[in-house]
Amino acid sequence: MGRVYNFSAGPAMMPVEVLKTCAEEMLDYKGSGQSVMEMSHRSKVYDEIIKTAEKDFRELAGVPDNYKVLFLQGGASTQFAMIPMNLMKNKVADYIVTGQWAKKACQEASKYGKANKIASSEDKTFSYIPDVSDLPISEDADYVYICQNNTIYGTKYKELPNTKGKLLVSDVSSMFLSEPMDVSKYGIDYGGVQKNVGPAGVTIVVIREDLIRDDLDESVPTMLRYKTHSDSDSLYNTPPCYNIYVCGLVFKWLKDMGGLEVMKQKNEEKAKILYDYLDSSKMFRGTVVPEYRSLMNVPFVTDSDDLNKKFIAESSEAGFVNLKGHRTVGGMRASIYNAMPKEGVEKLVEFMADFEKKNA
Ligand SMILES: *Cc1c(COP(=O)(O)O)cnc(C)c1O
Repeated sequence: MGRVYNFSAGPAMMPVEVLKTCAEEMLDYKGSGQSVMEMSHRSKVYDEIIKTAEKDFRELAGVPDNYKVLFLQGGASTQFAMIPMNLMKNKVADYIVTGQWAKKACQEASKYGKANKIASSEDKTFSYIPDVSDLPISEDADYVYICQNNTIYGTKYKELPNTKGKLLVSDVSSMFLSEPMDVSKYGIDYGGVQKNVGPAGVTIVVIREDLIRDDLDESVPTMLRYKTHSDSDSLYNTPPCYNIYVCGLVFKWLKDMGGLEVMKQKNEEKAKILYDYLDSSKMFRGTVVPEYRSLMNVPFVTDSDDLNKKFIAESSEAGFVNLKGHRTVGGMRASIYNAMPKEGVEKLVEFMADFEKKNA
């Protein structure tokens, strides 16, 4: 079997060019006589790798000079705790709950302080983004928290919330580097890389420098302080060296592709192909309010569980894998991140149209 089209929400497809470079450099990285996964993280050759990765990321994402870029471990889920531990001064934060990830983040924050759920779309299975233009922001809130692209439900904010002057913190795991973002609008934006950037094991945190505090409660563990990682340029302890190297290759790939403006166009084109088909199909339909559709995660259903099952089995057989929806939603979901070629989406739509005809 050749390579499949992998529609997984994460870990997800990687650019073939990057995988080829990994293979070429596996045994001997640029004449060093060793693989990147064998290198000391304190070596000169590795220092160059991590520094270049950070430089390329900053350039791609347009990170202003007064922001730090940290390569951390523990997944996005560890940030659910790290954020309140590091940012809660008044012990109050406001959460907009638009899916399971925001809900988990809110629950975790409530261990450290008061986490107010100021808006939610749970009433309609998270199929939309609530109006965020005039929310009851708490006067003493240390920050307002959002999950900007909801991986499981396939919704995305079209506008950032009006935080009324409060700090905005955003989980961008499933939209990282899929389009340009104005970093200066956030106190922190962060994400696990396994959705749209690289191999699982790295979390990138982009944090405004003045939020990196050294007056935290004694009880906050060293590894869970942003300052620890910021002071040591993400080399306080052994980082996930190899995975950061692969992320670095992806940053180069994105730059070669023309940067995030170009990726946005490509991602819009790909998503349109799938949404247009869903809107015209008599068998399949998208599950979210069109205005809030994600460019990255596209959930869809038929009206029959049996048909959903049949579709998932047959599509997988045909080389379109991991189309099963999240266990909390059912149906199907196609994640079409940066590395999914347009051709993959076109072929999927052809397959769906054919399936529709055969099963009408
Ligand atoms: C996958 C995902 C997470 C969880 O990421 P882990 O790295 O597995 O902890 C959090 N938020 C969003 C938006 C995600 O898509």
